[in-house]
Amino acid sequence: MQTTEKAQAGTARQTHGFQAEVRELLKLMIHSLYSHREIFLRELISNASDACDRLRFLAIADSALTADDPELGIRIHADRQAGTVTISDNGIGMTREEAVANLGTIARSGTAEFFRSLPGDEQQASQLIGQFGVGFYSAFIVSERVEVHTRRAGTPPEAGVRWESRADGEFTVENVQLARRGTAVTLHLKEDAREFADALRLRGLIRRYSDHIGFPVRMPKEGEATLDYEVVNQARALWTLPRTQVSDEEYRQFYQYLAHDFTDPLAWSHNKVEGKREYTSLLYLPARAPFDLYQRDAVRGLKLYVRRVFIMDDAEQFLPLYLRFVKGVVDSSDLPLNVSRELLQQEPEVEAIRSGLTRRVLDMLARLARDEPEKYTSFWKEFGAVLKEGIAQDQSNEAALLPLLRFASTRAGDDTPSVSLAEYLARMQPGQDRIYYVIAESLAAARAHPAIERLKERGLEVLLLCERIDEWVMGQLKAYEGKRFKDAARGDLELGALASQADKARHDDELKESKGLLKRIKDALGERVTEVRVSDRLKDSPALLVLGEHDLGERLRRMLSAAGQKVPEAKPLLEVNVTHALVRYLDTLADRDEFGELALLLCEQAQLAEGATLANPPDFVLRLNRLLVRLAAPKGQGPSA
Ligand code: ADP
Ligand code: MG
Repeated sequence: MQTTEKAQAGTARQTHGFQAEVRELLKLMIHSLYSHREIFLRELISNASDACDRLRFLAIADSALTADDPELGIRIHADRQAGTVTISDNGIGMTREEAVANLGTIARSGTAEFFRSLPGDEQQASQLIGQFGVGFYSAFIVSERVEVHTRRAGTPPEAGVRWESRADGEFTVENVQLARRGTAVTLHLKEDAREFADALRLRGLIRRYSDHIGFPVRMPKEGEATLDYEVVNQARALWTLPRTQVSDEEYRQFYQYLAHDFTDPLAWSHNKVEGKREYTSLLYLPARAPFDLYQRDAVRGLKLYVRRVFIMDDAEQFLPLYLRFVKGVVDSSDLPLNVSRELLQQEPEVEAIRSGLTRRVLDMLARLARDEPEKYTSFWKEFGAVLKEGIAQDQSNEAALLPLLRFASTRAGDDTPSVSLAEYLARMQPGQDRIYYVIAESLAAARAHPAIERLKERGLEVLLLCERIDEWVMGQLKAYEGKRFKDAARGDLELGALASQADKARHDDELKESKGLLKRIKDALGERVTEVRVSDRLKDSPALLVLGEHDLGERLRRMLSAAGQKVPEAKPLLEVNVTHALVRYLDTLADRDEFGELALLLCEQAQLAEGATLANPPDFVLRLNRLLVRLAAPKGQGPSA
């Protein structure tokens, strides 16, 4: 951030440049956000409420901070003539340094990625901005100029600060005398946003955005010129009310406030636990994934309160990582008010609440899956890959998690993962004892995987997977309702009772006939494969590489080595389709060199088919071309390449 000092530093006016990301955000906000312009009010009220929350929390340890002005609250004042709206609070306020840092940069990690992920499309951009949580800078959606007066609680009047900007890349700060602590944000509205200086319009919006805020929001009495203020919101913490007293609309609005999201949540669950331990929770399932769902340090959605006093955002101890998409509030009656993040880690109370909340979320998901399968499918599309992590992270809830899994399958027409394990079981064939699945780079590649050719021919359903974590997750799965999971590309197919006497007889015949061929292929391939055998999986493809049940798969191997880990080499075995024309042709080749080349080619194309990379691609291409030229040339004239 560059700074031009107009006079001696300290109290005089300084001009600062906004951080580059802030400039981007401002530009977007001003040029792309046409719908939902009124969200600036929600954001500013939310900041005022946060400021009151934070001061209330500090005052627990130091009551002098609020002694002169003990009732925390928010005031909103509109001036039609001047075209201004002022949102003020007597919360924690900011020092000069804090104002420069907080109102000039974005601290949130992943901001840069956020900008990279933005589409050119304005409609979509505005949706994404909503997910990002627009914050203070949303003031510029409706303002040509924004002024902030702020004084940190516990500092003298002369420590007051005036901040101002026209969103033109710069802002100024200077020290001013301020009689009261806290912050006042004054918006000088743009010509086309003057409607927001209308007290009536403002009241409607404020009711909508601040009814569930735990502090009174006051406005001047209607029609009175005096500065007589009245409370316009209900100032009740929504989660403390009995369920019967809260309407669906109120639940939705509270979600939008909490999650800074324009869209309605998919579902929510509001519960009060009484008895040995007491806590209230209100948990929401968002409809859309935030852009930073996969960033480990992304803000998670739970706010912690203790006896209605706000303690912290992002209380990650209360839900497992795989439920990080949940937004909501947890309010404990038992935790001490001075609880810190460090203390939370040692509180046995926290562990108990965490497992309680985990159950609540899983129940909510089960309910959604049962009662509103379409909504559940859309939930799965957004968050399925995260929920799946639970299979590996949370063995204790496996029984609840398994029925929540959804898969693409050879039976489902489209690629939307919508098949549950219960559905799979219901469609199993008589004698089938395994749940078959296959993992590939994409669903299309999984559908066409050579390892499932015969399974498809037999009409057996195969679950199709292609996400990064699938290999890891599926490796943890043992069985569902007594039926074991089976990776169709590993070990034996374990057809069990499904394989008829005729199948076995055919397999034995093929084996007897091709013993010599198998040995010659193995000799040609040497240490590349552990074994060459007759396949009972292949129908259209000539060959397939098969890993052992416990070998690291291709994707996991790549992920680990990308992360700098040394991965042990896994040697596959080669299965060949002895009825395939190419394999038959191979059998007729007497020339050792030619035989060797084609055998190697079989092995390499099997590698390619499963998405692996070849050790020496140019060599492969040379060999392939030699073969093609030979095929193209008239008989007897083949070039002796
Ligand atoms: P967020 O609220 O998500 O942190 P914002 O952009 O809304 O992001 O606000 C940025 C920061 O500015 C806040 O974290 C806070 O430190 C500071 N801030 C904004 N408004 C106020 C206020 N009314 N009182 C005190 N600090 C504030
Ligand atoms: Mg904010």
